[in-house]
Amino acid sequence: DAVSSSPLLQNLNPEQLAAVTLPATHALILAGAGSGKTRVLTTRIAWLLQNGYVSPGGILAVTFTNKAAKEMLTRLSSMLPINVRGMWIGTFHGLCNRFLRAHYKLANLPSTFQILDTQDQLSAIKRLCKQFGIDDERFPPKDLMRFIAGCKEDGLRAKDVPAHDENSRKKVEIYDLYEQQCQREGVVDFGELMLRSYELLRDNAPIREHYQRRFRHILIDEFQDTNKLQYAWIKMLAGQGADAMESMPGGSVVAVGDDDQSIYAFRGARVGNMADFVREFNVTHQIKLERNYRSFGNILDSANALISHNTQRLGKNLSTEAGPGEPVRVYESASDFAEAQWFVDEVRQLVRDGTERKEIALLYRSNAQSRVMESALFNASIPYRVYGGLRFFERAEIKHALAYLRLLDNPHDDTSFMRVVNFPPRGIGARTIEQLQDISNASGCSLHDGVSAVPGKAGANLGAFVAKLDVMREQTAGCTLREIIELVLKHSGLEEHYKTDKDGQDRLENLAELVNAAEAFVSQEGFGRDAVALPVDELGVNLSQSPASQGLDMSAAVLDKPSPEQLAPDLETGETLSPLVAFLTHAALESGDNQAQAGQDAVQLMTVHSSKGLEFDCVFITGLEDGIFPHENALNDAGGIEEERRLMYVAITRARKRLYLSHSQTRMLHGQTRYNLKSRFFDELPESALKWITPRNRGFASGLGSGSGNWSGASNSGSGGARGDWAGSGFHSKSGNAERFASPPVPAQKSAPSHGLKSGMKVFHAKFGEGKVQMLEGTGDDARAQINFTRHGVKWLALSVAKLTVI
Ligand code: ATP
Ligand code: MG
Repeated sequence: DAVSSSPLLQNLNPEQLAAVTLPATHALILAGAGSGKTRVLTTRIAWLLQNGYVSPGGILAVTFTNKAAKEMLTRLSSMLPINVRGMWIGTFHGLCNRFLRAHYKLANLPSTFQILDTQDQLSAIKRLCKQFGIDDERFPPKDLMRFIAGCKEDGLRAKDVPAHDENSRKKVEIYDLYEQQCQREGVVDFGELMLRSYELLRDNAPIREHYQRRFRHILIDEFQDTNKLQYAWIKMLAGQGADAMESMPGGSVVAVGDDDQSIYAFRGARVGNMADFVREFNVTHQIKLERNYRSFGNILDSANALISHNTQRLGKNLSTEAGPGEPVRVYESASDFAEAQWFVDEVRQLVRDGTERKEIALLYRSNAQSRVMESALFNASIPYRVYGGLRFFERAEIKHALAYLRLLDNPHDDTSFMRVVNFPPRGIGARTIEQLQDISNASGCSLHDGVSAVPGKAGANLGAFVAKLDVMREQTAGCTLREIIELVLKHSGLEEHYKTDKDGQDRLENLAELVNAAEAFVSQEGFGRDAVALPVDELGVNLSQSPASQGLDMSAAVLDKPSPEQLAPDLETGETLSPLVAFLTHAALESGDNQAQAGQDAVQLMTVHSSKGLEFDCVFITGLEDGIFPHENALNDAGGIEEERRLMYVAITRARKRLYLSHSQTRMLHGQTRYNLKSRFFDELPESALKWITPRNRGFASGLGSGSGNWSGASNSGSGGARGDWAGSGFHSKSGNAERFASPPVPAQKSAPSHGLKSGMKVFHAKFGEGKVQMLEGTGDDARAQINFTRHGVKWLALSVAKLTVI
């Protein structure tokens, strides 16, 4: 029939087809990794639109990351000639931001409210604790932050939190003070975005009913990782709230998820939302997808075998018709450093064999593991991009620049004020700042407004700072975003400061990159040099709008809208944001991916958590050691190990064609050398799918030179000898076809105990210029040197790859 012969629906299997073409009803799709859940959601949106069942404005789709939202929009615009502008597709945070921007007055926020990221939030809490003399040993700011975030995730304001003892009463009091501080300063944290928009829907019937009528189709990806508040928000939009309308007549909520991929319990995610959803929405359509389209057999077998060790499962099967493919490659190295070298060699070979760099992903359990890998990639001049972690927008110099920009926009933003009042240093001391804080607290005003009341020289210094901000604000009025940033970098003194700072070169480059990021933002969001305003509707998502994409009939969208008198005063106004505010919002929401230049083909580095939903041809999972992965915090707790196992399941199932697993006998972490046993997860993988590899030209002997014999000993004693030949002498291939699968030959490199360097020597490096050797470590191919470069500061370099000349 016409419906199923649509080209959109070709290549779907029967279960997928059923899910895509479900009638307007509530449904749960529960299926394992790579079974096409996300594809089904995207195709369903396209199918609904194509058949005129809904207008773009009637769609609300929630994805887990900004990256996923962008991918969905890109895919949709390739499937259909539509204008994706009206569609609400984004993360919970992105969508709530969009919602609050449209209704800021009703949400009791300033039109230019700013978003605190976790770092800002922590410093806001520290400031508060200092101000109220709260003992930070008894109430560590990080714990308070978690407490506040937890309350918000449960939808609780300070007054609603039950407190039975002195300790919890104090915490609730701090939560209350923190809320007041944020409100005064016009800032919201991530949890607040969610809670504030939930409350607005709950408490404002016209708004609620408007959106309930508008969003006919709500689709949620990665449903297993929604928290209580997010689920409540969905219920509110779907008319399942306190005032339960008829449960969305003619509308539908489709949730897709995989209980085996629930990895955010520590952030309040509730797998139980799935069962609640089925019950509370009276879900009659539950669909399972059991065929995996992503990975070859050996990869899938490994994932299935691993996850079968978990006891708390809803139970699903996954199979593939793709054949076994290559075996999963396993590598043991002597040190984290050798692991990084091996990784770089493999990447080189993969690229030489035609793999695109962006199809190679390096996954690790904790952010701290990326540094060694990054420096190896950097030394080898391989472009890479880090997702998450120390994101571009979180670097100190960028945060300083953003703080000035935020103050231009909102002088009462005390977090930003504190950050830069004496940066670059201008002789405003801690005593002066305390004095200012006291005055402001006493009169309940912002720091900015308190300045005029500070007497004497201190007051004059502060006054000069505020005057500087005022001048910048005047000078930047009517400027483009680029001009604003350039002016601020200059007049704030930041540029000058880093020019004279000995480690300042990198930071100056990052500041220059900020201008680029702004430029990219402006062109991406599609407002030209002369435009100074960005429609609210364009926030939170990346809207690609080709002239060809305007074709879809929008009349249905107009019909969807209630008549003006039904609307609350500022309902969906055409309010606009300045490019500056839009950019600052973007900076807070977006995980900056700016290491490699935009568009450059780069190796992808990320934590396992942020890899969810993504896929790559080749995946490396490194640092597979007990205490690292599974994480040490989880080792003594069965529930914790199950969550780590789900994480490992997510990691394995990211790979399409080739999967590498590696562990190292020693590792430098947080400044200490650790001797770790290999991960217990190795024992849960099927022998038949694995193959042990060793790099050809890297002598085992040279890797374990003098003084390192004990490494293999440490490793040998682990894992009950299940694979006795694994460690120590273990670099033997276990399968008969070693030749075929041996890792690609590595070009012979000088094994160099003869690097001839000594500490104190002066050296020259092509990229970093002149420097002085400070320390030497390791032998042979593992040798590394710490060098203090005159212009680039202290760096660790691998002597087997870094081209250094003694001068
Ligand atoms: P995850 O649980 O990791 O998020 P998923 O269930 O969302 O996975 P998708 O990302 O939607 O899975 O699909 C995995 C891969 O399989 C994608 O490359 C997708 O295009 C492909 N795929 C899905 N269904 C089919 C199909 N019927 N035919 C061919 N390829 C398919
Ligand atoms: Mg998915």
